[in-house]
Amino acid sequence: MPDLFFDGEWRGALDARTREIRCPADGSLVGVVDEAGGKDTVEAIAAARRAFDTGPWPRTSPAERGDLLLRVAGLLLRDKDTLARAESLDTGKRLVESAYDIDDVARCFRWFGHLAATGTGRVVDTGIDGVDSRVVHEPAGVCALITPWNYPLLQAAWKVAPALAAGDTFVLKPSELTPHTAIHLMRLLAEAGLPPGAGNLVLGPGPQAGAPLADHPDVDLLSFTGGLHTGRRLMAAAAKTVKKVALELGGKNPNVVFADADFDAAVDMALTAVFLHSGQVCSAGARLLVEDALHDRFVDEIVRRARRIRLGGPFDERAQTGPLISAAHRARVEAYVARGLAEGAVLRCGGARPAGPGLDEGFYYLPTVLDECASGMSVVREESFGPVLTVERFTGEDEAVRLANDTVYGLAGAVWTGDEARAARVAAGLRLGTVWINDYHPYVPQAEWGGFKQSGVGRELGPAGLAEYRETKHIWRNTRPGPQGWFT
Ligand code: NAD
Repeated sequence: MPDLFFDGEWRGALDARTREIRCPADGSLVGVVDEAGGKDTVEAIAAARRAFDTGPWPRTSPAERGDLLLRVAGLLLRDKDTLARAESLDTGKRLVESAYDIDDVARCFRWFGHLAATGTGRVVDTGIDGVDSRVVHEPAGVCALITPWNYPLLQAAWKVAPALAAGDTFVLKPSELTPHTAIHLMRLLAEAGLPPGAGNLVLGPGPQAGAPLADHPDVDLLSFTGGLHTGRRLMAAAAKTVKKVALELGGKNPNVVFADADFDAAVDMALTAVFLHSGQVCSAGARLLVEDALHDRFVDEIVRRARRIRLGGPFDERAQTGPLISAAHRARVEAYVARGLAEGAVLRCGGARPAGPGLDEGFYYLPTVLDECASGMSVVREESFGPVLTVERFTGEDEAVRLANDTVYGLAGAVWTGDEARAARVAAGLRLGTVWINDYHPYVPQAEWGGFKQSGVGRELGPAGLAEYRETKHIWRNTRPGPQGWFT
């Protein structure tokens, strides 16, 4: 069955191009999918445009849209096992993590399903006799949704659910490395009753399949999640037609630990913060900042436990984390570690590929701790997006905040302390879209997600996430029109 989805129909690429998808855990063939070229994508945009301009979806009531999203949430849970397996095969991540992700995906659809019918407008009291005025929200139009490979279906859900809740039509382009759950999602949207053309799917690499989404005049809004450099390029391309742009870019996230923190909890979560999904998480706590007085004891314990982390494939129940997404990505992580060592970092553990049965065929990399780092090093400033923890020392709150903010990114981070007033002061000083106090990584769809500085533009999730996909219109009605006589 073909894998591109336009106008409610499945079809192959015009030039019949396909791609083999291989599991990063062992290189096994997962599937062969169709890949769009630019002309296919332009057709998908045309389908979304027609569906927006003349189709039923933007004209349905917000309540009907909410009902559809709730049906999709139910279908996602019905197919949870199949989806989790597909996600694990594409990404190499542990099955238990993928299953958790699918629950999150369903939660996202459910939450936007409930939100769809809210906040649809307000009446404004103009104070002028004979005039009434309303502010209403309308769908933004055709949305281009471009997503990365680390949380493939979840990232798609964060965009597809609010776009549909708002009444938009869309073209989704997932990462070329992880297409399978997006294909399944389109089947579920059709099964739930989404009209033809309201949701369209193109697959393939960014420059080939994705580029028209950023500069085509028929696209009204571009929502992109991915790397900083791609984001900059797409923002510039979108400027040609002044699209609404929402960007969720990377992070180099500080995890700030004071000497008065709960030691066991802070160690445990510092490991989770950086090594979950082998560090391939936008909010990964890859930059550990430890108060000088605590440094030696804290880092010794992190290293002791990092050495014991068991690597393995999606279906290895003893594995604690998995491989990197590709050989190219592992090479990039290796280059960052090499540069960090050349710049003076001290290797405390990892820094190599693991050896062992079942690991040689996959793109594994050992959990790595680089100590005695400084904020000027590239491995500290730039996103390696791998299982690499850099450690810096600080003394006192002011230095902690100054170092933590010394990056172009501003996505997320944490502060660990037993002193509530200090926690509040430091949280206020951190220029980050999300600050966890004595925790790391949790989020709820009710609260917004997004970055300060070069980590992004706009918010996802939460009421502001829905607002990204709506236009706001002011309707002024004069109930007693008549000449005013200015130019008689
Ligand atoms: P990437 O930027 O390489 O690719 C992301 C998507 O953009 C893919 O679908 C890719 O095909 C597409 N793309 C690339 N070039 C394009 C072009 N010229 N035109 C159109 N589309 C193009 O990122 P990645 O390697 O897939 O993902 C990892 C990055 O994503 C990391 O930097 C990570 O921090 C970021 N990320 C951010 C968040 C967040 O919430 N801020 C969440 C997840 C991932």
